[in-house]
Amino acid sequence: MTTPGTHTPVSTAETGDHFDFDVAVIGAGPSGSRGAQLLASLGHRVALFERDPEPGHPVHCTGIISRECVEQYELPSSIILHGANSFVLRSPRGHAARVRRKAIQAYIVDRIALDQLLAARAVEAGATLITNATVEDVRWTGGGVTLSVAVTGERRAYRARVAVLATGHGSPLSRKLGFLPHAEVISGCQAVVEAPNMPEVEVFTGQIVGHGGYGWIVPYKTGQALVGVLTRAHTVRYMHGLIQKLQDDGRIGPIVREFRCRGIPIGLAERTVVDGIVAVGDVANQVKPTSGGGIYYGMLGAESAAATVHEALAAGDTSAVGLGAYEARWRRTMEREIRTGQTLRHACEQLSDGTVERLHWLLRVPGLRRVLTATSPRFDWHSAPLLHVLDRFRRASHATGEPPTMQRARRVS
Ligand SMILES: Cc1cc2nc3c(=O)[nH]c(=O)nc-3n(C[C@H](O)[C@H](O)[C@H](O)COP(=O)(O)OP(=O)(O)OC[C@H]3O[C@@H](n4cnc5c(N)ncnc54)[C@H](O)[C@@H]3O)c2cc1C
Repeated sequence: MTTPGTHTPVSTAETGDHFDFDVAVIGAGPSGSRGAQLLASLGHRVALFERDPEPGHPVHCTGIISRECVEQYELPSSIILHGANSFVLRSPRGHAARVRRKAIQAYIVDRIALDQLLAARAVEAGATLITNATVEDVRWTGGGVTLSVAVTGERRAYRARVAVLATGHGSPLSRKLGFLPHAEVISGCQAVVEAPNMPEVEVFTGQIVGHGGYGWIVPYKTGQALVGVLTRAHTVRYMHGLIQKLQDDGRIGPIVREFRCRGIPIGLAERTVVDGIVAVGDVANQVKPTSGGGIYYGMLGAESAAATVHEALAAGDTSAVGLGAYEARWRRTMEREIRTGQTLRHACEQLSDGTVERLHWLLRVPGLRRVLTATSPRFDWHSAPLLHVLDRFRRASHATGEPPTMQRARRVS
């Protein structure tokens, strides 16, 4: 995609009736670009500020999204690297169990291409993309906001009626504006490695990937794979441990490139609206606590933000009161999932490697695997059915010391 680059800003006063834009969207990741596209297509004058020279760079993410997400947002095949209807789950001791569904459940997309596509859609809808533009401050002046922006190093001021904050997790701006994560933070990092023969996604569990963590190897571009780890601490060290093990096993070659390590918020945000600003995506903790995936939830958050901002602009009130409907709107879509996902994550983190090994063993018994995977949840909305399965295991363990499925599995074997 060719980015329009920086445009000539309108010189403005700090306050007053003049507005350069109706909406200033800060951050051209999936959440910000989707929000900018929606608001521009509703006829608002939208600026999309991006800190980096072009959307999508630098990349940090694996780019796995559900089929539901691909279909809902009509994502083209040109950005899809692979479809996945199966994955291999590795136990702490390295045993493999393949979980397979008939239809494709998820896609691995080129994350740079995805971000650039979404930003291009925003521009096509009428938004002005301003790159190399770091928003350093947003001040509510009553009736609107003033943004201080460093555009290619030069400080400028812009006026907008309302801002959408989509700066991802942990940006200095979000902290300055009082959007604190109020959540646990795990971290993820990954590397591109040479891997001439990597047909399928594999997920790793156990101490090799650290407490509460999981690792992955995912087919990427031709002859390459992404190897990564998402865990609570020492993420880079665990990632290198996993890469070393895969190299020792002769499954992958050298590292081609390492991505930066990034924090991922786990748990509900306390507040996502202040006077003149709504927060979407990672900065609002709109992330699945189980997997750490946030592309789809961030885009869903952007739908709620755009609907609310549109109403607030029509009503002429972009104060926290005028924008208040946003909180209820996005929470209706994903609060339950984030809450239960966090509980589920905590429950899984209590399991010892031995217990995980025993549960994994059930997946290797063909009949039981069919039963367990038949109840496997939708890719993005999985906490309730998974909690149900976990609860069955828990109750059975309480009564007998081990799950009945485990006893049955022993008889089968
Ligand atoms: C290792 C790893 C793997 C992951 N894999 C997946 C996956 O497979 N699937 C999935 O769904 N999720 C995955 N995630 C999570 C996913 O990357 C995030 O949830 C998603 O990127 C959030 O989108 P966003 O638009 O909210 O923020 P971001 O994608 O972080 O975008 C924020 C944008 O704001 C810009 N910005 C920041 N500050 C400013 C500022 N002051 N002024 C202007 N611009 C600014 C940034 O440059 C950036 O472009 C992964 C995360 C990690 C760490």
